Amino acid sequence: MEQTSPPAQSDNQVAAEPAPVTNEAIRVLNLYQTADKIYTRSLEGFFHSFRRWTWIPMLAGYFLIPWISINGRQAVWFDLAERKFYIFWLTLWPQDLPFLAALLIISAFALFTITNFAGRIWCGFSCPQTVWTGIFIAIERFFEGDRNKRIKLDAQPWTLNKFTRKGAVQLSWMLISLATGLTFVGYFNPIRQLLPDLIQLSINAAALFWTLLFIALTWANAGLMREQICLYVCPYARFQSVMFDPDTLIVSYNKTRGEPRGSRKADQKPAAEVLGDCVDCTLCVQVCPTGIDIRDGLQYECISCGLCVDACNAVMEKMHYPKGLISFTTENVLDKGGTFRLLRPRLLGYFTVLILMCGLFAGQLSLRVPLEVDIIRDRSLLYRVTPEGMVENSYQLKVSNMDQREHRYTISIKSDQALIYRGQSEISVAEGEVVDMLARLQLPLTDVRQLNQEVEFIVTASDGAALSSSEKSRFLAPLQTDLHKQTGIKNL
Ligand code: SF4
Ligand code: SF4
Repeated sequence: MEQTSPPAQSDNQVAAEPAPVTNEAIRVLNLYQTADKIYTRSLEGFFHSFRRWTWIPMLAGYFLIPWISINGRQAVWFDLAERKFYIFWLTLWPQDLPFLAALLIISAFALFTITNFAGRIWCGFSCPQTVWTGIFIAIERFFEGDRNKRIKLDAQPWTLNKFTRKGAVQLSWMLISLATGLTFVGYFNPIRQLLPDLIQLSINAAALFWTLLFIALTWANAGLMREQICLYVCPYARFQSVMFDPDTLIVSYNKTRGEPRGSRKADQKPAAEVLGDCVDCTLCVQVCPTGIDIRDGLQYECISCGLCVDACNAVMEKMHYPKGLISFTTENVLDKGGTFRLLRPRLLGYFTVLILMCGLFAGQLSLRVPLEVDIIRDRSLLYRVTPEGMVENSYQLKVSNMDQREHRYTISIKSDQALIYRGQSEISVAEGEVVDMLARLQLPLTDVRQLNQEVEFIVTASDGAALSSSEKSRFLAPLQTDLHKQTGIKNL
């Protein structure tokens, strides 16, 4: 699939004044091209509205989720200090790391599947960089007007009007950046406390650092760098074409139909002018957030936002030509006259792996028992012989309640010999707590048959919850010769 570079300067970019050529400038090779500011034009259309409808739930989710509480606790809270991730009714502990790894794999395959199906629609419709840039541009448009007014305002000298408008834009951007930064940090710290702490200057240093960093990043990425992030920073643009095939839906300009391009009056038919359908109005370029001309072919800068499709369809409608000169279509359809193929090996492959991974993840999650038992044998002493003639082994028991409510548990043991459990046989563990306790196992000297035998500690919920977990350990007993020495008992 051919990928071409954009023209040096397109119609929604406004060139800076060329710098005067000096001897110094001639001697120094400047490896950086000055980025011209892109002034996007706003046009209503199907994809424009569709983007809005994908953004609203995403933004609502991002800003509202940390404020939801379950049982008096923040519903989604990544508590790094305690190394516990609360995700609604699920609490993930460090030992649940494979679940997070599985989630990452699922996300990767979801991205592969969607990219193979419809190109970079993630970038155009859901990527936070696109969403926040869109909000910042909407604010600019609200205070400074649409494209032409913004270009004019920027070219004007600083007046009270310009200062007020620019100031209002910066203030609004700052407020949104602040809300974004605080919300992000609120996923890792109790959010209801963050704002009061910030106002009273009692916020902890780490939370303050991350809040300030995210404020700065939001402002810089969405206000300052915008499409530069997509073009030069995001690695996804560079390897997206690896996931494409000739049946991937991409935003394309129909060259056969559109060329030769040229302007004309609205009521003139292209045949009369010996022109293609493109009236060369450059609207498709003016609405493009990355400042490219899609008529130059598929480019890695294209984020598949569909705004040029809306723009061109509006022009085609005005000209009474059929819509779709620019459209979401496939290379097979456009260049080879084929039909759109949904069922193809690569897409089916990605989709199958995605479904399998989701099934595996759901299965593992449903089998997960939110109870963990750890047994550590007392390594300083293999065994002890009590004055009552019992061989005794000591253990440290750790019972972790990974559930979101308190439970009562009974502790029992299973072994081939009649071991006697000495310790607490019933305990209560609060949600998210770990109880550490000592336990002893005893066996009458006269019953010793094995020097080293397996014993299983079983912890079962006794409050009606279907929770049980166990851990195996060893019970060590002395050799007969050792026993003679220690106890003086003969004929064991
Ligand atoms: S070329 Fe069209 S689809 Fe691609 S980024 Fe520009 S406006 Fe969006
Ligand atoms: S919007 Fe359509 S008609 Fe206008 S320049 Fe772009 S492709 Fe041509």
